[in-house]
Amino acid sequence: MLPNAIPAVVASLIDGQWVNPAGHRELPIVFAASEEQISVLAEADEQEVGAAVDNARTVFESGVWSRAPVANRKRVLHRVSELILARRDELAMLEVAHTGSPITQAYGRHIPRAALNFEFFAEYIAQAANPVFDQNPDYLTYVRRDPAGVAGLIAPWNAPLALASMKVAGAIAFGNSCVLKPSELTPLSFVPFMEILLEAGVPPGVVNMVNGRGPITGSALVAHPHTDVIAFTGGTATGRLIGAEAGKGIKKIVTELGGKSANIIFADADFERALDAALVAIFSNNGQQCLAGSRILVQRAIAEQFTEAFIKRATNLRLGDPYDKDTEIGALISAAQMDRVLGYAEHARNTAGVEILAGGKRCEQFEKGYFVEPTVVTAKSNSLPVCQEEIFGPFATILSFDDEEDAYAIANDTEFGLVSYVWSQDISKVMRATEALRAGIVWVNTPLTRDLHAPFGGYKHSGVGRDGGDWSRNLFTEEKTVTIPTHNFPITKLGVKPD
Ligand code: NDP
Repeated sequence: MLPNAIPAVVASLIDGQWVNPAGHRELPIVFAASEEQISVLAEADEQEVGAAVDNARTVFESGVWSRAPVANRKRVLHRVSELILARRDELAMLEVAHTGSPITQAYGRHIPRAALNFEFFAEYIAQAANPVFDQNPDYLTYVRRDPAGVAGLIAPWNAPLALASMKVAGAIAFGNSCVLKPSELTPLSFVPFMEILLEAGVPPGVVNMVNGRGPITGSALVAHPHTDVIAFTGGTATGRLIGAEAGKGIKKIVTELGGKSANIIFADADFERALDAALVAIFSNNGQQCLAGSRILVQRAIAEQFTEAFIKRATNLRLGDPYDKDTEIGALISAAQMDRVLGYAEHARNTAGVEILAGGKRCEQFEKGYFVEPTVVTAKSNSLPVCQEEIFGPFATILSFDDEEDAYAIANDTEFGLVSYVWSQDISKVMRATEALRAGIVWVNTPLTRDLHAPFGGYKHSGVGRDGGDWSRNLFTEEKTVTIPTHNFPITKLGVKPD
């Protein structure tokens, strides 16, 4: 059931104040499971984005946060984490209202992750140190880090708070101010999130928020001359546009983009664990995950047995009300996304070399809602669109391979390079796989595991740069090398006439 306390309208937050939404272009917020309009977004135009960035810049330069002692920032970040957990129910309910994904994802994964993001960076900044170089006895050279300035943070709709808060936590931990733009489809949970930041003691203007469509609000944020850093998570096509625009302004940038990750299951894998994990990797969060294991590569000796078991489990998945704790697949985010997924099913139906083994249709048992049956296809060739294009839904493609060489060649034959999964009990084979695979993350005998200390990001068209620990610090700070002589050594005297 939808929560009672849904914000009637979501506007921008600038300097700790909600902007009056009157006169703004309004966009509907829809509950994907019922297709009802449940709220309205008041779109920020270029001028409003400019006001948000200018305010963030003024607050940055005031030093109220950018020069605050690390101990103070650490305390505030921990408080944010605590308040997120204290309001976990409310945040999870709102996440479901705008995504349509099952409550177990929001409550069990995404909200705890948002809290962890702040806890992680609170501890990180308290421990971070900078190098000193003293090899030359005449000088002491050390590195200090300054916050980079104002960060423009652009987040997608599939895990709204978990992904946006990673950027906010990283940006403010290192003393930056920022302007956040969530997806136009998923602004609801950001209302309590902004309240939490202010209540925890983040000064007004350190985190401003603008809402609206990507090409209007988002592009104004990227193009604004006073955003120094752009952190973007979203699709590869959008990443290309944002990268080009940020390049014009010589801005620091990280782009975390799409994926078409290979889940390689060797015949010597623990069959049951690999099966459980393959289902989790493609069907959790409705399959709307950049790191989804959407291409399942199974060694030929076990391919038939695996495919049969996979289909049995996929057709047993419980679809329905995303607020029901037993639901495993909810509604897809929007009609457009549902049509996109169904379009691939239609394509598969009409293409030689692809066979639909399960699903491929809109769920008939629901009168309303963007529900798509969990879909499983087998493909004969990795060059087919169902193997090459990111579908971003409950849609698994199974391919078979003969040997290691074959597996790695198929896995790497993609424009993407975000994640590869490997299932084998042979440690030597695993080591060879970790070397051969061209992906930013290799998960061995496990699905979906993230350590925030480690870099996260992709090879190839899955993005540029990484986030996590040191990599977030590199993005959100400027390094300054300071050199000081240790004694008054003679300096060459120019312009002195010889006697
Ligand atoms: P989009 O690229 O459509 O949008 C992402 C964000 O960018 C949204 O806030 C969007 O706004 C905004 N945006 C769109 N166009 C522009 C523009 N021209 N200038 C500035 N901002 C813009 O991605 P989705 O929201 O559809 O998210 C799904 C994609 O995200 C998938 O490809 C997925 O793989 C990827 N993703 C990657 C992750 C990673 O870590 N690598 C993690 C999660 C998702 P609006 O929505 O309002 O139009």
